[in-house]
Amino acid sequence: MRETLVEAVGLAKSFPTGRKSVLGRPLETLSAVRGVSLSIARGETLGLVGESGCGKSTLGRLLLKLLDPDAGVVRFDGRDITRLSRGEMAPLRSRMQIVFQNPYATLNPSFSVRSTLTEVLALHGTRRSERRDRIAEVLSLVGLPADVLDRRPRQLSGGQLQRVGTARALLVEPEFLVADEPVSALDVSVQAQVLNMMADLRERLGLSVLFIAHDLRVVEHVADRVAVMYLGKIVETATSEDLYRVGPLHPYSQGLLAAIPQVTGGPRKTAMMEGDPPSPIHVPTGCAFAGRCPSRMPRCTVEEPALRDVGGGRMVACHLLDADP
Ligand code: SF4
Repeated sequence: MRETLVEAVGLAKSFPTGRKSVLGRPLETLSAVRGVSLSIARGETLGLVGESGCGKSTLGRLLLKLLDPDAGVVRFDGRDITRLSRGEMAPLRSRMQIVFQNPYATLNPSFSVRSTLTEVLALHGTRRSERRDRIAEVLSLVGLPADVLDRRPRQLSGGQLQRVGTARALLVEPEFLVADEPVSALDVSVQAQVLNMMADLRERLGLSVLFIAHDLRVVEHVADRVAVMYLGKIVETATSEDLYRVGPLHPYSQGLLAAIPQVTGGPRKTAMMEGDPPSPIHVPTGCAFAGRCPSRMPRCTVEEPALRDVGGGRMVACHLLDADP
């Protein structure tokens, strides 16, 4: 069994919406993450999937301690990092990195790729004499030719920009990478290239990765395990083998899978979901998915299902597990 590198226990995070009382107090909060526990082993890629606004990106930032949780604990390499100060986190920063959905927005438009990458190494204290070799090494890892070094972000394609964003994260040799929707903004053909690159990096570098996506298709070939998130909670976790070959057990995971267009073999035989997710400002009682669930029962609207171990390393939060066959 592989050693755990990242662990979250009971993480919760909400944000004030901006609506305030006459006394200036927040009137509403948006519950982005509602009691999430998960772990990622060394060398493992965990796909985190759910519709937009379900709290995936917030959860990724909590694991990196880019946000402080309202409740819960984050451990990195066995150490509780939840309450570490900025200074105490500094030595750990190079061990955990993030790749963003839109690298263009995070790159300085007036910097060449060389300047961007050199600046990262300088900030992390890499010796001047070692920077050139390290940049060449990382460019090769992400499959970019050396001539991109003299280009500015606007002179790069979407796929090249995402590779530069990945190179920037890899420069400091992280052990844990959060890839936050890294292919969502790319054309399908370019998506496949970037996904192949991510799978290759996992093999070659032994990275632990949280790969965030809103589409189950995207993580199928890069994730060892998949966690499905709905309205701030994990509703199912399973190995990729179980989720894609055996099939999901939670009706929401089934709906997400049914939404994937089939290239061959006709449509998947699963009921589609109804409607849109409820607002995270007004989370319903009972099962948050009940309003859209084709299998809901009277119990579902009053009692929230707990995430339970159903064997084989799979966890599911659904009252159907208790229903008579
Ligand atoms: Fe559907 Fe009920 Fe299961 Fe929720 S608990 S997913 S409403 S069957």
